[in-house]
Amino acid sequence: MRVAVYPGSFDPFTKGHADILKRAAKLFDHVIVGVLVNPYKKCLFSPKERVQQICDVAKHLENVRVIHFDGLLVDFCATVGATAIIRGLRAVSDYEYEMQMFTVNNTLSPKIETVFLMASPPYSFLSSSIVKEVAKYGGDISNMVAPSIKEEVESKFEALKNEK
Ligand code: ADP
Repeated sequence: MRVAVYPGSFDPFTKGHADILKRAAKLFDHVIVGVLVNPYKKCLFSPKERVQQICDVAKHLENVRVIHFDGLLVDFCATVGATAIIRGLRAVSDYEYEMQMFTVNNTLSPKIETVFLMASPPYSFLSSSIVKEVAKYGGDISNMVAPSIKEEVESKFEALKNEK
């Protein structure tokens, strides 16, 4: 059984993430989306919200599960029985960080392979940060995220605006 983990912040999960997940689900028997809980990174959505959003968007993919985790990625992989880590590569700018992460994970756990999938052309410049930046100023994010996530991002910014 080939099990892979697709880790990330997914704050929020974009169409670029969804594209990588769909392609990874064809390559592996099981793919576990690992939503990173990082107390040092300020996220728009809570881990529970992000897990729910991804579950909704990926419900048609039968071999995909979504779980949040904290701590070391290689420890999470061991817990769920994964032997591969999936990462998406967009522009050259991703390369340095991804190389660093690969080196750390490979040093900690050489048996876990990292598999890089190139971003599909329509999503090669899409990031969660861009989605938040555009939504914050009322721009249209329909091409960037699924309709259910679009609604949640817009409500979140609306609520934040009303808090001020
Ligand atoms: P992280 O905080 O780990 O970088 P992200 O949620 O930003 O988490 O991204 C998770 C993974 O998805 C990373 O491997 C990232 O390079 C990849 N990714 C992000 N956006 C895209 C995209 N538009 N197309 C393909 N891969 C992407």
